Amino acid sequence: MTTLQAHSADELRALAETAGRELEEAEPLDILRWAADTFGKRFCVTSSMEDAVVAHLASRVMPGVDVVFLDTGYHFPETLGTRDAVAAVMDVNVITLTPRQTVAEQDAEYGPRLHDRDPDLCCALRKVKPLQEGLAGYSAWATGLRRDESPTRANTPVVGWDEKRRKVKVSPIARWTQDDVDRYVAEHGVITNLLLMDGYPSIGCAPCTRRVAEGEDARAGRWAGRGKTECGLHG
Ligand code: SF4
Repeated sequence: MTTLQAHSADELRALAETAGRELEEAEPLDILRWAADTFGKRFCVTSSMEDAVVAHLASRVMPGVDVVFLDTGYHFPETLGTRDAVAAVMDVNVITLTPRQTVAEQDAEYGPRLHDRDPDLCCALRKVKPLQEGLAGYSAWATGLRRDESPTRANTPVVGWDEKRRKVKVSPIARWTQDDVDRYVAEHGVITNLLLMDGYPSIGCAPCTRRVAEGEDARAGRWAGRGKTECGLHG
């Protein structure tokens, strides 16, 4: 895979808009192949380590692809274990990003349990800023966003323009359902987070994630009771 020359922001935006239209009906592998061919090493996958579906898909068209994981310092051990398993067995290059401050340093500056008092600030410090910095060397990033996950994700384009980071944002499984994901995981033996089988259909930081009850929305367990649905990475 060659390292392609960096595009200007205007070029990236035009590429994203055209590809979003042309690839709307395309299969995830074809969307990822377009991203790999267009951006080469300036393309990465981001993963919350809920599962390794998009990382697995991407590794099929771009072996050794960078898979970026944000270690907020608040993850469940199962999530870190998933990250380690992905790094050990898959043909990908796992890159772990960390916030500038440890949890202890943040507690000292802002007081303990900032996630309970001001989750938006906590997410900004521990997720949004580190990702912004970590993606600096890339022109395009892939996510596992799906339209069926929540109303806020219902219009997710398969390829779109991420104005906040001024990068191309690729969501190759945007049109997939949970059944599609389950089928892919079963067919390919994809690594998944053990918590998925323990009542957590959506997994984030431990203090801000609870199990969901039968019939609840998959993301109902994220920031439950706090009027917050997204961490700011995708808004
Ligand atoms: Fe902090 Fe919760 Fe956001 Fe994690 S999900 S960064 S603990 S507010």
